[in-house]
Amino acid sequence: MKKFYTTGLITLITASMLSGCSSALSVTAPHATLIVEEEPELTEEEKAAIRREETVEPLLKEAQELAHGYFYEEALDILNHIPEEFTADKEVTAAITQYTTAQDSFIPYDQPIRHIFFHSLIVDTSLAFDGDYMENGYNYWMTTADEFKAMLNELYANQYILIDIHDLCEEQTDENGNVTLIAKQPLVPKGKIPLVLSVDDVNYYEYMKNDGFARKLLLDENGDVKNLYIDQNGQESIGDYDVVPILDAFVKEHPDFSLRGVKGIIAETGYEGTLGYRTHDPENPNLEEDKASAKAVADRMRETGWQFAVHGYGHRHTAKISYNTLASDTKKWKEEVGSLVGDTDIYIYPYGEEVDYPSDKLRYLQSEGFRYFCGVWSKAFVSVKDTYVRQSRCNLDGFTMKTRPEAIADLFDVSRVLDETRPDLK
Ligand SMILES: [Zn+2]
Repeated sequence: MKKFYTTGLITLITASMLSGCSSALSVTAPHATLIVEEEPELTEEEKAAIRREETVEPLLKEAQELAHGYFYEEALDILNHIPEEFTADKEVTAAITQYTTAQDSFIPYDQPIRHIFFHSLIVDTSLAFDGDYMENGYNYWMTTADEFKAMLNELYANQYILIDIHDLCEEQTDENGNVTLIAKQPLVPKGKIPLVLSVDDVNYYEYMKNDGFARKLLLDENGDVKNLYIDQNGQESIGDYDVVPILDAFVKEHPDFSLRGVKGIIAETGYEGTLGYRTHDPENPNLEEDKASAKAVADRMRETGWQFAVHGYGHRHTAKISYNTLASDTKKWKEEVGSLVGDTDIYIYPYGEEVDYPSDKLRYLQSEGFRYFCGVWSKAFVSVKDTYVRQSRCNLDGFTMKTRPEAIADLFDVSRVLDETRPDLK
């Protein structure tokens, strides 16, 4: 309607067209009839309808998109700033009621919360499972891209929802300013099951180079985080080849799989750089450029719901190494990796090997700002003590899927997910 009136209507009809006789043009002076239809005067009602379409409709749409990802407060904020003449608009008041009700209907989740984790995904199974000495390791500890995508569909269908690990506890500060952590039952939409997700060793190590994995994370021309993948013919492509961009795309399509945009935790080592950039190597001729690229990717990831964790600089056995080695390893991580990906209070143990609770090593890590400590166990386990939180993580890889599918039956039916190209475990 709007377009019709604002454009007006001008119709030009030539006499020859009407007559259907083109030869007439050569003998008759060309003459044209111009029919101009006056732009009609709009009624106040019509003008208001146009204003509504231009101002209210886009705001309703924006609010609805936010609400899909449970950003109810932000959605309501938009609706509460709608121009005064439309505050009584039926659609506006209905949306306000709907989002307020939804926001108030969150309920505390009272069961231990699962934390699942992955390594970089196998894109080309023919290269990972090619019979060389690496095959069995990949088959045990890695997940294929197809499996990961299938898992997301299953988890979503089974009502799981990604939450922030920081929702597992809350701080209580006494009158002297001392902070104590207390366990918290995260608030989730009714019927949803909260889940924490992480990915280990998103470093794109040299040893994986020719085995069918992505090479690095980068920003594409839209500023989105994608992977560089190079196939066995040397053909480069930029796209969704690992957990980060695949999950980003899934949440974009299913915003209600994530509580307020939360994605997961990236557990980084440092001994081969970070995120696929060799930022550890003083001999790297592109060192400064690579540092800037890694930092730009990490910044964008933080903006889009990702967090980072220490996974040791050298992927050492935290439980076995000396106190001093742990201290120098942690210091090096902070200098080389933390300086690019940012500070973190999450420590994800390499090999899942935990320090003792309590112990000098734990006190050291706490003094370095760590509060969340993650080991590995197939069951959900969360323990909140005064000054730290422990949460076990379950590896959703070939080992778990093939040797104990029953341990993860609450998450999904393994038979619906398992990649048929996996060989037998040896
Ligand atoms: Zn690791």
